Amino acid sequence: MFWYLEHRGALSSRQRIVLQHIKWYTGMQIMMGVYLFEFPGKYSRLTMLDLRSDIKELKGIGPKRAAAFHRIGVHTVYDLLACYPKRYENGAVQGNIASLKPNEDAMLVGTIEGMEERRIRAKLSLLTLYVADESGKIAVSCFNQPFLKRRLRIGKRVCIAGKTSYAYGGRGQLVIKQPRGCFLLEDASASKEIESFSKIQPVYFLTEALTQTIFRAAVKEALTEVSLTDILSDGIRQRNGLLRRQEAFRAIHFPKDDTEQRLARKTLAFEELYLIQCGLFYMKKKNTQLRSGISFYRKGDMVESYRKTLPFALTGDQERTWLDIEKDMSGDRPMRRLVQGDVGSGKTVLAAMALLKAVENSYQGALMAPTEILARQHYEGLVKAFQPFRVRVAFLSGQLTQNQKKAVLVSLADHSVDIVIGTHALLQDGVNYAKLGLVITDEQHRFGVQQRAALESKADLLPDVLVMTATPIPRTMMLTIYGDLDISTIREMPPGRTPIRTFLRRFDRRTLIYKYVKDCILQGGQAYVVCPLVEANEARDLSSAEEVYDELRSGVFYGLPCGLLHGKMGKQEKAAVMEDFHAGKIKLLVATTVIEVGVNVPNASIMVIEHAECFGLSQLHQLRGRVGRGSRHSDCIMIAAAKSEQAITRLELMTQIQDGFQLAEEDMRLRGPGAFFSDRQHGLPDLKIADVFLDMGLLLKAREEAQKEIGKGESKKHILPLLAMMYQKQFSHILDT
Ligand code: ADP
Ligand code: MG
Repeated sequence: MFWYLEHRGALSSRQRIVLQHIKWYTGMQIMMGVYLFEFPGKYSRLTMLDLRSDIKELKGIGPKRAAAFHRIGVHTVYDLLACYPKRYENGAVQGNIASLKPNEDAMLVGTIEGMEERRIRAKLSLLTLYVADESGKIAVSCFNQPFLKRRLRIGKRVCIAGKTSYAYGGRGQLVIKQPRGCFLLEDASASKEIESFSKIQPVYFLTEALTQTIFRAAVKEALTEVSLTDILSDGIRQRNGLLRRQEAFRAIHFPKDDTEQRLARKTLAFEELYLIQCGLFYMKKKNTQLRSGISFYRKGDMVESYRKTLPFALTGDQERTWLDIEKDMSGDRPMRRLVQGDVGSGKTVLAAMALLKAVENSYQGALMAPTEILARQHYEGLVKAFQPFRVRVAFLSGQLTQNQKKAVLVSLADHSVDIVIGTHALLQDGVNYAKLGLVITDEQHRFGVQQRAALESKADLLPDVLVMTATPIPRTMMLTIYGDLDISTIREMPPGRTPIRTFLRRFDRRTLIYKYVKDCILQGGQAYVVCPLVEANEARDLSSAEEVYDELRSGVFYGLPCGLLHGKMGKQEKAAVMEDFHAGKIKLLVATTVIEVGVNVPNASIMVIEHAECFGLSQLHQLRGRVGRGSRHSDCIMIAAAKSEQAITRLELMTQIQDGFQLAEEDMRLRGPGAFFSDRQHGLPDLKIADVFLDMGLLLKAREEAQKEIGKGESKKHILPLLAMMYQKQFSHILDT
């Protein structure tokens, strides 16, 4: 017989035993690699498994079960092992009857003293067993299990496993209802069953066609067949008190006790965060060290003259951030910097300075914004600001006509334009730059890592990248999403801003509120009204922008110019409304959250938010940031229709906290990282086990270890394949090279 043995990776103990047997039978010397063993007889294939193996190769998984596993996204052994239990069934403690407590996972051995069967309803039968041991007696109720009666006999020794509870109508007696296990001690399988009941058992998310038993058996099989190579070095494990990988996987699925389970979780969460951080550091290293960037060494006078045109002095945080940016830009390593600062903290000024610095060095700059409105606003502002310097600025968005677009593309390609401002259109194929040196993306969290990479790929030398975000992101999340970037934070607001007074009011005060708004408009102000929906929706009892708009302009605000703005309107229509609001032609703007990002109308000093309970704290804070941009004192009035105390408590935080970073932390604490971002384009990797919020401490340690590891430089061949297997989506662009 031929044995064809294929093997990758280290051997499990079982595999070692198999090999010993083969060695013993054949007398052959066994080495690592791929072997052919000669036996008399037929060919037989013995494949050793690793994490990439198809689950069909596991014993007990045929095509049908494999198909069921595929349905829950499990194709490889790794996929299976990474299906962490959603919870555990406690192991039952064997004890005597007298010592049982209510609500306890119990296991007891006793003699059946009586059996009684009753039919309660047509389809419900009850078999009651009376079981006794030397310490006492207990009743065991089994519903709809007629087969039990056939298996059990009075006088036999029986083992029962199940949860104890008080007997209905009894005087504190205990019963076991619907036991998990009930079998005679003389049964052949008894000892095995007792063992399994006394252990903690994992419970998985399943589809039909799979049972917990099948799932557990498959995981067990995988754990014995596969030997896992450690990702974390001995040093890292020791420093952080972590398990070996094999142990961790075993213990997350079949923990001996809670402590072991917690340790396994910690290990796997650490491993996950560590890998992602390694990926991010690797990405950073690849971006900044492996390809050279541009050194904007020349110091022209544009930046300085521009500063002189500003009617204010930069704040301390702005100055510090500018120093960071300037240092990055003049160095020859490509800048990879994130500037985070609350709405109105003055990031745009810094973006303008960076763009001028690129132009001073005869490079082109691109500024990308997530929405048309915002891009236009930047465009208009910067055209005005750059006029004295004869900098040529172009605008590019999907809305331009073919001819307009063509003209812009030509001017970018022949360098007759220095700066282009636009939307996603800047990323498209066919947009070529003569000499792209700086890419700025505003409100970055809406662009994923991939999009960042797409823009960067448009230049020969790696352009400098500046990312600006006004969404304060909790630090852990920041490191997970932007771990490849250097970070500057602007916390200090420009002076002279009066804080936005924020009120929370119940629905029944609406009329009064709008009267107040009207008064302010009559005194020359402008106001926003934000609604959660665009149009009326019968399924949800919320105000829609359209309804509120109709209501207000024909009611309280009759005779005053009102506008409506929402995402379902055409782009030109939207732009026209925004323009009119900007110019003060519209006094009251009813809108959905399209106004959320970056819109700047200094004269607008009041914001009313209808159904504030529909929004997250971060989002409310963003909305609130639309007002308070001028010298007028500003109000944000949240109208809550929610009755739940929890919702009200959450909204009250808005009235107490002005700092966006603090609100972001609260938001994530209250609603979890998933709800934190309103759209899915947040670029946050799908974490399988770690939790960006709860595992903050772990993340920081993992990041530190990852930094050391990547610094050593030999990690590439060992980390990259793992990233490819586990986080393909997030890191695809660094993996294919
Ligand atoms: P952000 O983009 O961070 O939301 P902006 O850059 O749009 O904020 O700035 C908001 C407003 O504050 C603008 O009108 C800007 O001119 C003004 N501003 C910026 N920096 C300062 C400063 N240091 N002192 C006073 N006003 C400032
Ligand atoms: Mg801005």
